[in-house]
Amino acid sequence: MTNVEYVKEMFALQQKLNDETNGIGWENGYTKNDRIINWRRCIYMESAELIDSFNWKHWKDINKATDWDNATIEVVDIWHFVMSLLLEDYKVNDRGDLDKLVDDVLDVQGFERFSKEAGSRDAAQSMELINDIESIMHMTTTSHIDLFDGLLKEYFSMSLKCGVDLKTLYKFYIAKNVLNQFRQDHGYKEGTYKKVWNGKEDNEVMLEILDNESLGSKELYAALEKVYKN
Ligand code: MG
Ligand code: MG
Repeated sequence: MTNVEYVKEMFALQQKLNDETNGIGWENGYTKNDRIINWRRCIYMESAELIDSFNWKHWKDINKATDWDNATIEVVDIWHFVMSLLLEDYKVNDRGDLDKLVDDVLDVQGFERFSKEAGSRDAAQSMELINDIESIMHMTTTSHIDLFDGLLKEYFSMSLKCGVDLKTLYKFYIAKNVLNQFRQDHGYKEGTYKKVWNGKEDNEVMLEILDNESLGSKELYAALEKVYKN
């Protein structure tokens, strides 16, 4: 797959997910249930969850190791909302279609590196990394936000330091998308879905499946179904 294909598929899936969950026209800032949408808040709250994957508390469990698996999940969670913010901006401000948006994302300084370099984790740098995450939070709470040279640039560089590069991001994003679909197909909205399977959360089960084999979205869905039915 090319970089364009990776990025375009994720944006297309995010548009679909938002259309289905929030209703067509969500870019105007309201869901079909008339709830206000605030993507920036979503970004800084998920960023706080990311910080919680690190050992930042000076008074508690001071030798606790970084939870890198959870950090990966939170980096992907943030990505859902960064894409949503961009989709909203392009629609509301008439900046162009999906192809234009994807082109602009690929043009961001640091994207090249993000797409090539295998991300590496460095626990020794975790305090610096927390500063990077906080700079993303800061951007989302000031009135002017530079989506490309600010937010995206910082996001790509921060993700790499968490060990997440383009391919890893894609793999986990698709997996989360499949899980979201699986949940909806099995009664999530109706409240009949079982999130804990044999003592494990569905998220965890999915990660274990992914650890053992590399699967496309259809195969992953089928693998989930097999475990769920048991
Ligand atoms: Mg969350
Ligand atoms: Mg999260």
